[in-house]
Amino acid sequence: MINMTQGNIIHSDNSALVLHSGGQDSTTCLFWALGKFTYVRTLCIIYGQRHSFEVEVAQRIAEQAGVPFQTLDATFIGALAENSLTNHSMEMDSEQPAGSYPNTFVPGRNLFFLTLASVIARTHGIRNIVTGVSQADYSGYPDCRDTFIRSANVTLNLAMDEQFSIHTPLMWLTKAETWALADELGVFDLVRTQTLTCYNGIISEGCGHCPSCRLRRAGLEEYLSTRQPS
Ligand code: ZN
Repeated sequence: MINMTQGNIIHSDNSALVLHSGGQDSTTCLFWALGKFTYVRTLCIIYGQRHSFEVEVAQRIAEQAGVPFQTLDATFIGALAENSLTNHSMEMDSEQPAGSYPNTFVPGRNLFFLTLASVIARTHGIRNIVTGVSQADYSGYPDCRDTFIRSANVTLNLAMDEQFSIHTPLMWLTKAETWALADELGVFDLVRTQTLTCYNGIISEGCGHCPSCRLRRAGLEEYLSTRQPS
């Protein structure tokens, strides 16, 4: 647990703050953190994403996990630059355009998220920050890459004279391997039925045709084809 005395924060290496959106990846990360740290809390950043339902989903999962849930309104992130995740009138790219990123890319999102998370972690005396980014099987967003995360970790430590550790348990996992991890953690059914990954705001299996649903389903089918009967 965190120890706090008279405004002096005593840092705990056994505590973690998980960036949690209610999706497959961050929910898997939440349960990964619960197996690794003795105290876990979640932070759900609202950045103007299409469906505020995501926040409700994240809260419900945090309650089931028995961990504190905190939201932070940072809608300015989505408003700074054109992107189809926060501009609801924009048609979402279903494929990655040649030589650029799909319009679902929210510039600077993970840098903002990690900065906000580290400030909040610091106020709770938490050194470990967990995020579900991955560079293995996704759209190639630059702020999901390992190099960026390492760089941000150094920068945040320097910025606050702290010793944060940013953990990215999914960094090198494919979507099928992320399903396998959820299964190992004993939360396969919870992740399958209660998380919201779909860009169209439909829980569990989703709409089935948006880029996020296609990626999720392909990974699930790949994993199920190899899953040992329990
Ligand atoms: Zn969908």
